[in-house]
Amino acid sequence: MEKLIRGILHFRKHELPTRRAMFSRLAEGQAPDTFFLMCADSRVVPNLLSSSEPGDLFTVRTVGNLIAPASDDGTAIGDVSEAAAVEYALVALGVKHLVICGHSRCGAMDAVLSNTAPSGAPNLVEWLKLGTPSLDRVERAAFVDRSLSLADRLSQVNVLQQLDHLRSYRLVGQREDAGEIRLHGWWFDVATGETHIYDEERGGFVLLDDEEGERLLGGRIARPHLTLVPPPG
Ligand SMILES: [Zn+2]
Repeated sequence: MEKLIRGILHFRKHELPTRRAMFSRLAEGQAPDTFFLMCADSRVVPNLLSSSEPGDLFTVRTVGNLIAPASDDGTAIGDVSEAAAVEYALVALGVKHLVICGHSRCGAMDAVLSNTAPSGAPNLVEWLKLGTPSLDRVERAAFVDRSLSLADRLSQVNVLQQLDHLRSYRLVGQREDAGEIRLHGWWFDVATGETHIYDEERGGFVLLDDEEGERLLGGRIARPHLTLVPPPG
């Protein structure tokens, strides 16, 4: 906490004087073009990794970048808060891109994998069940990078699985089908500080470098979908 308080004092003294115009402009309203769902992990900082500013990202952070899928009536199974944020981003703000970003060394994925959560955390146990479908699919995912640990593989499959949860909301599915919005699967490697994007044609998550950036900006990357290989036998 001491670091935070000293940080605010530093910000007031050294950063704020150069950003006053930006904040007074932001006071008029927000117009982000991207909804960004990421894990709550403290090591992963969306604005830092994307060199973005206040007003650029409509951000939701959850444990394991999980989001509950829709039930038959269109509301979320379980907690509706993440889906409410998605609806606000689409209906009120008109965002054009929805990113789900997972990351390496994710504690939530470790817990899903080992089927253990800290004792005395019944809500956490319940929440992590949203990662179970990813666990069921990790061995059958067509793109999996075998050089990664099982938890990191699960984390990558989980990004695609949670994109499917996102699509289960009619608003998202319909707008994606109509080409009005684009969904993106990203994965951040904590050890290298590099961001990877899911590109099925290229065989999975690829480093977002200059070349991939051009492909992405040119719209030459297909919709991110989790493709499964047939079960053995
Ligand atoms: Zn995490």
